[in-house]
Amino acid sequence: MAIYAVTGSASGMGRAAADRLRAAGHTVIGVDLRDAEVIADLSTPEGRRAAITAVLAAAGPRLDGAVLAAGLGPGKGDERLRLIAEVNYFGTVELLEGWREALAAAGGAKVVIFSSNSTTTVPLVSSRTIRAFLKGDRAKAVASTKLMGDNAGAFVYAGSKIALTRWMRRAAVRAEWIGAGIRLNAVAPGAILTPLLQAQLDDPETAGAIESFPVPAGGFGTPEGIAAWVEFMLSPAADFLVGSQIIVDGGTDAYFRSDDW
Ligand code: NAD
Repeated sequence: MAIYAVTGSASGMGRAAADRLRAAGHTVIGVDLRDAEVIADLSTPEGRRAAITAVLAAAGPRLDGAVLAAGLGPGKGDERLRLIAEVNYFGTVELLEGWREALAAAGGAKVVIFSSNSTTTVPLVSSRTIRAFLKGDRAKAVASTKLMGDNAGAFVYAGSKIALTRWMRRAAVRAEWIGAGIRLNAVAPGAILTPLLQAQLDDPETAGAIESFPVPAGGFGTPEGIAAWVEFMLSPAADFLVGSQIIVDGGTDAYFRSDDW
């Protein structure tokens, strides 16, 4: 049985993934602000370093895989924009870099990063925002969206996920990762009914946009449904999956971009 680190394990899709992996007999080291084996704040460099160290201490010399689900949805205000940037992008990339040697030691580790279908459905995210994330310039990544006013949160969010997927695809094929047998892939959910989405549905300012967002399959996805994809992407059936972003969104991406693939 395998040992997996799962961030965002206290809620929503991270929790559903952790539950599913545990039910299959695996050991899960959850990382979250609460209700987890490792309590850590992934919005600060110190919190991320503490999470890296604590997971390595709990896992021992090898980590068979990781699921990076901690994240925040769009919101308003300077502090919220900072948190989205810090947790969604740096809270994924820095942890994976810190765990890389332990993942390599497993000789065939698999990693599932949580991206989003906002990577393909939020139009005109500035290349300045994405470049700033990839260069590690969190202040510039946030500042580059300021002209969007009250919509800045949606652009920091989509920018963080586009940069994450781009980082993942670049790293996936490099010797440090695939050369060490580590398969990096991303799942890109659409509207999944978790506490994150529920908060947006409960907010009169955002509810209309969520409810009118086209989902050809109808309704919302479930955390358990996405957890099944995560388990599959960690399984031997996914040995040939490298650097892919799997969109699971009830058809929203296909609706907007039928001819782009
Ligand atoms: P959720 O809010 O239910 O769970 C997110 C978890 O991340 C929570 O347990 C939270 O405590 C943790 N987290 C937040 N900030 C943290 C911090 N500073 N340090 C440590 N942990 C922190 O959300 P969810 O909907 O399950 O989202 C999981 C992932 O999927 C996120 O990355 C999100 O961006 C992405 N996503 C969600 C949706 C959706 O519709 N729900 C769609 C696309 C992508």
